[in-house]
Amino acid sequence: MDRKFPRLVIRRDKLRNNFTQVITRCRTQGISVAGVVKGVNGLPEIARLYKECGARQLATSRLEQIELWRSAGISGPFLLIRVPAMSELEDLPRLADYSLQSDVSTLDALEAVCARQGLTHKVILMVDLGDLREGFWDKDEMVQACCHVERELPHLELAGVGVNLGCYGSIVPTPENLGRLVDIARTVERRIGRKLEIVSGGATSSFPLVHRGTMPEGINHLRIGETALLAKDLQEDWGISDMDYLQRGTMYLEGELIELRKKPTYPVGETMIDAFGRHPTYEDRGVRLRGLVAFGRADVGDLESLLCREEGMTIIGGSSDHCIVDAEDCPRALQVGDTVAFDLCYSHMLYATGRSDMAISIVDTE
Ligand SMILES: *Cc1c(COP(=O)(O)O)cnc(C)c1O
Repeated sequence: MDRKFPRLVIRRDKLRNNFTQVITRCRTQGISVAGVVKGVNGLPEIARLYKECGARQLATSRLEQIELWRSAGISGPFLLIRVPAMSELEDLPRLADYSLQSDVSTLDALEAVCARQGLTHKVILMVDLGDLREGFWDKDEMVQACCHVERELPHLELAGVGVNLGCYGSIVPTPENLGRLVDIARTVERRIGRKLEIVSGGATSSFPLVHRGTMPEGINHLRIGETALLAKDLQEDWGISDMDYLQRGTMYLEGELIELRKKPTYPVGETMIDAFGRHPTYEDRGVRLRGLVAFGRADVGDLESLLCREEGMTIIGGSSDHCIVDAEDCPRALQVGDTVAFDLCYSHMLYATGRSDMAISIVDTE
């Protein structure tokens, strides 16, 4: 059976604009872009589009998505951006051209796999500059690991060094902390006697430095997902106002109304816990028109943070397969069978594109 709704509508024209804008703005500052598409579960059409717009590599956190790109005939190079697990090493060199790395025992094991398979693989070693997710903490240990790859692991090529910020520790990328990455790169280059191909200065959260022209000299690579795919976080959550060259509304979710009637706003009877074991609070706003939309947390995760495109509509809550909306103030005369649309946050995009039963339409104009 082919589901018609919920339907994720993806605007190819807006994505093309955002990919091109990010890539050309980085390029004028000597920075190449790895197009990160893990947020849409590596959708091949979107990966291909990012590459066509000039992404230097295509990047994701999951090897299965790279395998999908290979079978879809999408051209690489491909970069794995979650540090690989030992259990993934057997498949890593044949699927990915590059990977981020932060553990010497993993690098040693990867060397053995590559030697046995007769393949080579490029690695970017990660340093932790305070965000406390992946990366070497001790800078001397980091430099030593780089030298170890260069001199003692012949099937691995030391492509460069990188950092990730603003993910766990919410640390803001600055000219100072990214300058420390450049210092590390220069130290490694002195020790190995050659230039590194890649000095990778982070993700979307580092893009404001490109935007403002404050990126330190020497950073030549960024790994960009969110601000090209959704263009929401920097403009809305960081409040950067002069970034209109990146378009919002690159995708939205359409759901179908399956019930619409006047009901009380306060549950009737003795209250216990909801479907997810929580104790929600309810506000009594009297009798109002409420609608049920036929998707739920199973499709998008959190419902309350979805943004209604339908004028006057607000989200009340929901459960696994139902989204409950308040339609009392909607000027449109809605009825069962109508569809209503919602703008998404990153997590909604991630969950929606990850469901095998989601209808996905990639369109060029609205
Ligand atoms: C997810 C991720 C990115 C891309 O992050 P965005 O915020 O979507 O740009 C870059 N690098 C690493 C290591 C990541 O895990």
